[in-house]
Amino acid sequence: MTQGAIHALRAGHVFDGRQAAGPGMVLVEDGRIQDVDVTGAAPPEHAVVTDFGPDAWLLPGLIDAHVHLCWDATTDAVAHVSTGGTSALLDTARTAAATALRTGVTTVRDLGDRDYLTLALRDQVPPTERPEIVAAGPPITTRGGHCHFLGGEAEGTDALLAAVRERAERGCDVVKVMASGGNMTPGSNPLHQQYHPDDLRMIVDEAHRLGLTTAAHVHAAEAIGGVIDAGFDTIEHFTFLTPDGATLRHDLLDRVVEEGTFLSLTGGWVPGTPPPPPAMAARMDALIDVMTKVIASGARIVVGTDAGIEPGKPHHVFPYALAALAQVGMPALDVLRSATSEAAAALGLAGRKGVLRPGADADLLVLGSSPLADLSAVTDITAVYRAGHWLPGNPPH
Ligand SMILES: [Zn+2]
Repeated sequence: MTQGAIHALRAGHVFDGRQAAGPGMVLVEDGRIQDVDVTGAAPPEHAVVTDFGPDAWLLPGLIDAHVHLCWDATTDAVAHVSTGGTSALLDTARTAAATALRTGVTTVRDLGDRDYLTLALRDQVPPTERPEIVAAGPPITTRGGHCHFLGGEAEGTDALLAAVRERAERGCDVVKVMASGGNMTPGSNPLHQQYHPDDLRMIVDEAHRLGLTTAAHVHAAEAIGGVIDAGFDTIEHFTFLTPDGATLRHDLLDRVVEEGTFLSLTGGWVPGTPPPPPAMAARMDALIDVMTKVIASGARIVVGTDAGIEPGKPHHVFPYALAALAQVGMPALDVLRSATSEAAAALGLAGRKGVLRPGADADLLVLGSSPLADLSAVTDITAVYRAGHWLPGNPPH
């Protein structure tokens, strides 16, 4: 879009991050949304008008609340991210970011890089060529703990406080903590908690004092109570893994609902790719049961893919995560809210991202058909705009 000019984007339908209406028009100036109209008003006289037609949908760019840009989504992703050179990882991250953006994902939260490389990426690549990146840097983990190879090992009060402060000083937006083990790390057990609840609370308090949000990775049923007590802004995975499967604890879910904590549910798998890790594949029915109950509870949900960690999760996996939520009972309107306005709130970007309203960044997606009628419409992309710039490759009509 031309700098200084007002652009009017018109379509038969508008989803503003909360509700659908239309026909409508979004006015964009200098990378920001200046106005949104669903009353049928005519464009301003001097505006440059693009009319996408009566079937088109205008919506906020999508938000993936959990990605790993430095991970290359191969069977060797762990080896690549732990031993690859800086420039190789930056290349991976640059490609991953561009891929996500083409998929209509205009904001990502990176919850685990190595050597703070997503911050370098953010400095090196102009905003219009990548999504907005909310960055955690290396996750804080125990010695030899889950994803220790990313460089975020810290234990004990002094080291943990220093780790939080280092992330704030470097310019991270969020502190990610591995509260239980995980599936990607040899020797790590997803069934075990990694930190004492007092340590978790100290990390959260220090991060909040410094103006950062917080995210806790947790699979183990035994670790989820401590994560809720600590007051994390988002809880990742929330799978309630047990030795035999996965068993939801309703008392803990009730607390999450009461406190309004965001659950970042992990979904999305590209068909025809190698299966998930055996520990997860064996539990799939139980995991789906947990997710179904979580969604039915009314808890605040955001959508995370874990894009990059394995072949089933390449950096264009996001639409499959939306489909996965719909399959376990989430209405399409709620899925879209989770992927836009709710995610923005969870990431500390309320009002700036995930909404079409005056003052928000002009990150927009134009679809050729209704995502409310069929969520797979999010792959029927007519155009992507990032900070008001039309992304080449999806030409407007
Ligand atoms: Zn992850």
